[in-house]
Amino acid sequence: TARDHLTAESLDSHSIKSFPMCMRNLHEALKSNHHLRHYGRLQYLLFLKGIGLPLEESLKFWRNEFSKGSISVDKFEKEYAYNIRHSYGKEGKRTSYTPYSCLKIITSHMPGNNDYHGCPFKHFEREFLKQKLKQYGRSQDETNQIMDHADSNNYQIACQRYFEFAHKTEEIVPINHPNQYFEQSMRLING
Ligand code: SF4
Repeated sequence: TARDHLTAESLDSHSIKSFPMCMRNLHEALKSNHHLRHYGRLQYLLFLKGIGLPLEESLKFWRNEFSKGSISVDKFEKEYAYNIRHSYGKEGKRTSYTPYSCLKIITSHMPGNNDYHGCPFKHFEREFLKQKLKQYGRSQDETNQIMDHADSNNYQIACQRYFEFAHKTEEIVPINHPNQYFEQSMRLING
């Protein structure tokens, strides 16, 4: 299955087809800024670990992106590689960290300026969320339905609707974890 071939290179295409908006947003921010701040790195790298990206591929992915910006490979190894290994349970106390659930993402660490973590349905400015939904291919009617849920603080239902529209499925897929979103997407796409 596609799961057996998760590589740094495959993330671009997975992010478009199978990532929830929170993770697609982090992926795009990393790709364009060649950097992510602390909570963004944590939210995204634990998600990537959870979908099955091997440690070596994760290191390659982050090293590549960071070195396109202002972080040299040397600096990357000294300041960032440890944390990535650590989150995979390969350093320090060898605790393996768990990817964040929607509830955790929605309720903790409010993103500030230049942060890209969080849940778009909760944390994006309304107009920006609308624009993004359009940019990601949602029709006006779909966007309105998603916005209604987001505006009523039903962020996970907004995400569920987004999933249904993005996958053109009638199936009800309640979303409570970004990794579960990915699993359900892979199941629908690959059977
Ligand atoms: Fe991500 Fe969960 Fe928000 Fe969906 S509801 S965008 S999976 S945090």
